[in-house]
Amino acid sequence: MGLSEGNQAKTVWDNPAEIVRSLRPENPVLVFAPTILQDRARQFIEGFPGLVTYAVKSNPEEAVINNLVAAGIRGFDVASPFEIDLIGRLAPMAARHYHNPVRSTAEIAHAVAAGIKAWSVDSRSELDKLFAQVPAEDCEISPRFKLPVLGAAYDFGAKFGATPDRAAELLAAVAARGYVPSLTFHPGTQCVDPGAWEQYIRTAREIADKAGVMPRRLNVGGGFPSWRVHGVEPDLPAIFERIGTVTAEVFGENAPQLVCEPGRGLCGDAFAIIARVKALRDDGAVFLNDGVYGGLTELPMIGNLDRIDVLTPQGERRSAPDAGRVVFGPTCDSVDRLPGELALPGDIAEGDYLVINGAGAYSVVTNTRFNGFGELQQLTAMSLG
Ligand SMILES: *Cc1c(COP(=O)(O)O)cnc(C)c1O
Repeated sequence: MGLSEGNQAKTVWDNPAEIVRSLRPENPVLVFAPTILQDRARQFIEGFPGLVTYAVKSNPEEAVINNLVAAGIRGFDVASPFEIDLIGRLAPMAARHYHNPVRSTAEIAHAVAAGIKAWSVDSRSELDKLFAQVPAEDCEISPRFKLPVLGAAYDFGAKFGATPDRAAELLAAVAARGYVPSLTFHPGTQCVDPGAWEQYIRTAREIADKAGVMPRRLNVGGGFPSWRVHGVEPDLPAIFERIGTVTAEVFGENAPQLVCEPGRGLCGDAFAIIARVKALRDDGAVFLNDGVYGGLTELPMIGNLDRIDVLTPQGERRSAPDAGRVVFGPTCDSVDRLPGELALPGDIAEGDYLVINGAGAYSVVTNTRFNGFGELQQLTAMSLG
């Protein structure tokens, strides 16, 4: 079957199989399904008992931001001058929360000039920098606290977050200087256990009591899971429910307004990566045209994505019983290998395509050109696998 000119010019494809069949792409393709992103955004807006903001770092593509705005997202967690300006341009009316707790004085000056009114902080030294540069009026500062890791794919507290005692000192200092006092935490990415949020919210109440300051808002972070593993479909409603119930229980009538800042939970399931099998070596190892220096950077840190369909170049699904395979990326670096073994259909052949679902977060944005690979084409589709 030849490639049709008409098809190549298509702007919205039906699904990844149609892309494979029509284009036989030689380079990796990231397929975006805007309807999935907008549905997920509405699920958050309707289900989360507070303000939903999007953590821009997880996928800052302009099409993602624009579709989130179209679905009703009105706030963004930004971490750098670049992200501040990106959202200022694409969503000028939206709230921007500058929740990277460590910033240079030049970055603070940029943010003040850009009109940023919400900041997080996890150390006294950084709080003093904010006091020196940021006018207090209508300006919120949220100490960020951490607990030992509870249910996430890896420990975010390893880098950011004050102990609860330190957070209480910071909260009291914020209120004393006339800023709006709030609290924030991040339970760790891909967190599937509602109990993690519960424990953080209970601790937030203890911090408020210790500081003698009731926070105006409580930001419960990102960490909401996407669907990465076949048998473990995330239960977002159960997490939303627990956050609302526990906040009402521990804070009662003076409950702070809730805010969340999902990255992965919003964008992860709206993308699939199509990677081609470059070679099947004598020992059975699979070489793909994408790997850990490309769109699959995260996998060694948080585990394989296993929602994978293997398609022939004609777009037909391979269905022989699965067998474990070692899978490598295209670069000449031995680190460029997916963790463990991946279960793939036994009849997989050179030239086939892997459609790897759930690949929207920390993929396009961490893709590199190492070794001359990483030419990641982006296409749009109505649906994914
Ligand atoms: C990375 C980050 C997020 C998003 O985390 P996910 O696990 O992708 O939801 C939210 N808030 C802050 C402050 C972050 O650094």
